[in-house]
Amino acid sequence: MSQTRTRSSELYEEALKHIVGGVNSPSRSFKAVGGGAPVFMKRAEGAYFWDVDDNRYIDYLCAYGPIITGHAHPHITEAITRAAQTGVLYGTPTELEIHMAKMLKDAVPSLDKVRFVNSGTEAVMSTIRVARAYTGRNKIIKFAGCYHGHSDLVLVAAGSGPSTLGIPDSAGIPKSIAQEVITVPFNDLNALEEALNAWGAETAAVMVEPIVGNFGMVMPEPGFLEGLCRLARAAGALVIYDEVITGFRFHYGLAQTYGVFPDFAAIEPDLTAMGKIIGGGLPIGAYGGRKSVMDQVAPLGPAYQAGTMAGNPASIASGIACLEVLQEAGVYERMDALAAKLADGLQASANRHGVPLTINRIRGSLSTHFCDHPVTNYEQSQDTDGAMFGRFFKLMLEQGICLAPSKYEAWFLTTAHTEADIDATLEAAEHAFAAL
Ligand code: PMP
Repeated sequence: MSQTRTRSSELYEEALKHIVGGVNSPSRSFKAVGGGAPVFMKRAEGAYFWDVDDNRYIDYLCAYGPIITGHAHPHITEAITRAAQTGVLYGTPTELEIHMAKMLKDAVPSLDKVRFVNSGTEAVMSTIRVARAYTGRNKIIKFAGCYHGHSDLVLVAAGSGPSTLGIPDSAGIPKSIAQEVITVPFNDLNALEEALNAWGAETAAVMVEPIVGNFGMVMPEPGFLEGLCRLARAAGALVIYDEVITGFRFHYGLAQTYGVFPDFAAIEPDLTAMGKIIGGGLPIGAYGGRKSVMDQVAPLGPAYQAGTMAGNPASIASGIACLEVLQEAGVYERMDALAAKLADGLQASANRHGVPLTINRIRGSLSTHFCDHPVTNYEQSQDTDGAMFGRFFKLMLEQGICLAPSKYEAWFLTTAHTEADIDATLEAAEHAFAAL
């Protein structure tokens, strides 16, 4: 059932002449899966994509997370259409922004006040600015393998030891900025304590993905978040949760309000960054937190943050419509059940063919790691067979299953996926594992 993708290849050649690397975000290239032309899609509806060669795919990429109600959901499409008809950008406040801010606050007790921005990157950048303004300190502690967007401060990797100052992950980031970041391993409270012992008095904030979505889906170990908050606060630093991936992913709320894990409920960060799902597929980000901290932001306070497109009526309308769909009874339970069936089936199939596979599943999202050890931190996630994932990715793609082209990215379920989609995916996986 192998597909041809002649037109995609032609378009890729053309794109390479005009767009850097042929893509507008490096994660869309196939570099991490052995190269080749990425697939050019032309239409999407529900759980499906159609490419420019008219092949159909079941989508588990879901645009790296924002698409949780399936593509072109009628309720969201209607909201966007209405926004288009009444003007997409005003540069003035609108009533809808208040409505959406209240929806976020109702779902997330730690948010006294919010601010809308245009991307997850902006939301994270802004939380760091605000934390620095509030504490009068400069340094940030983050965790290895957690991704927080492409701003200077958070594109910094660990130095040679767990609590050394950072080295830039990208050219163009001054060493002086990287020196303000300390990276420690996820799920390692001793390393965090060591870092805070050395740099605590200069640390503005400890930033974390409370459930990791960027080196696979990885749960914090019991007590990790609690310990993180306790240690940070003892040092006088703020706690920032980056919930750009986790927000409204597992239930109607954030990971910090995820009652299934008793550890989570008691822990409220000082600041939270959000994005992806809350825009229903249109560009958005948001950040918020305690009133005393958020009141640092201009025009109330001295921390400047602004945006021409921020809170634009189209993104806000789309986001509200998406959250309304997610309020319907049973939507998360259905995604959970389908993901469980998918994960169990994939594991059984890999076992049958002697393929080493560790699956991390958290409700409607999962990650596949080609290894025979658990994955609870970045080092373990790196120590997996990337070449084998690359072959698996392409074998699945040829059978009409669209995954993210990276061994670190998650598979996402949507409210549009069906049992039949899971069955078709497992059948494709059976062929792929057999061929590996
Ligand atoms: N934080 C996290 C946890 C993310 O996963 C991402 C994007 N994958 C970002 C921040 C950056 O968001 P954006 O791409 O919208 O700038």
